Amino acid sequence: MQKWVEGTVVNQKRWTQTLFTLQVEAEVARFEAGQFAKLALAVEGEMVARPYSFVNAPNERPHEFYYVTLPDGPLTQRLCKLQAGDAVYLAPRPAGFLALSEIPDGENLWLISTGTGVGPFLSILKTEGPWQRFRQVVLVHAVRHAEELTYRDSVSRLLGEHGEQMRMVSFVSRESKPGALYGRIPLAIEEGRLEAAAGVNRARSTDASPSRSRRVAWRPRRALRCLRRLHRL
Ligand SMILES: Cc1cc2nc3c(=O)[nH]c(=O)nc-3n(C[C@H](O)[C@H](O)[C@H](O)COP(=O)(O)OP(=O)(O)OC[C@H]3O[C@@H](n4cnc5c(N)ncnc54)[C@H](O)[C@@H]3O)c2cc1C
Repeated sequence: MQKWVEGTVVNQKRWTQTLFTLQVEAEVARFEAGQFAKLALAVEGEMVARPYSFVNAPNERPHEFYYVTLPDGPLTQRLCKLQAGDAVYLAPRPAGFLALSEIPDGENLWLISTGTGVGPFLSILKTEGPWQRFRQVVLVHAVRHAEELTYRDSVSRLLGEHGEQMRMVSFVSRESKPGALYGRIPLAIEEGRLEAAAGVNRARSTDASPSRSRRVAWRPRRALRCLRRLHRL
């Protein structure tokens, strides 16, 4: 199989000093919302490739990737210099398990993200799946500074389309921002502030009715362990 597909940059949007959205036209295999593509550029004769989650829904074009540049990052320092018309390479087959098909049924869907992690959730939210399968859908986006609360237009559109079924909670950890919670997600879970802000109660693990047997209980300790691991990355 062909190793790389040549794509063409359609647009590069700069949100902040370090946050960018790259839009690319490329013929890659169909993906499921939440999956990632491998983007690559040739550096001194070798392909440097890294995974990036799709932000666009599977039926939308161009493909869209939301990324943060790292000071000495071999790929991101090059990606951010690309302009419309430039070539960028993609692996022909998207991959990844952060997809709704991997998630058991439940009452509510909590999509908890930090930084560029909101990207794959936006892709998922633009599909029918979450709205058909879950009673309430909560998108949580945590950042350090208010200017990093990007994709506000996309979130507003989703809120407009889905009304009460969707809730959005933003966190800013290094400054106070009206409308956003201050601090970090793990503490807000422990203190019950996240649920209060979302206006959605966690599913009760004591609910053992047969029709709900596949529901996943909300386990705050496990959620906190996962989040702490993420924060250490
Ligand atoms: C499945 C998957 C999906 C991903 N999706 C995205 C995405 O949608 N957007 C995105 O920006 N990145 C994403 N990444 C990270 C991305 O693949 C690259 O690692 C990142 O862009 C840095 O590439 P680089 O070549 O510039 O630096 P690298 O040489 O890859 O990284 C340099 C160092 O920075 C660390 N690092 C990597 N990413 C970050 C980060 N975000 N914050 C702080 N340190 C980091 C690495 O662990 C490494 O130690 C994803 C990674 C995986 C595994």
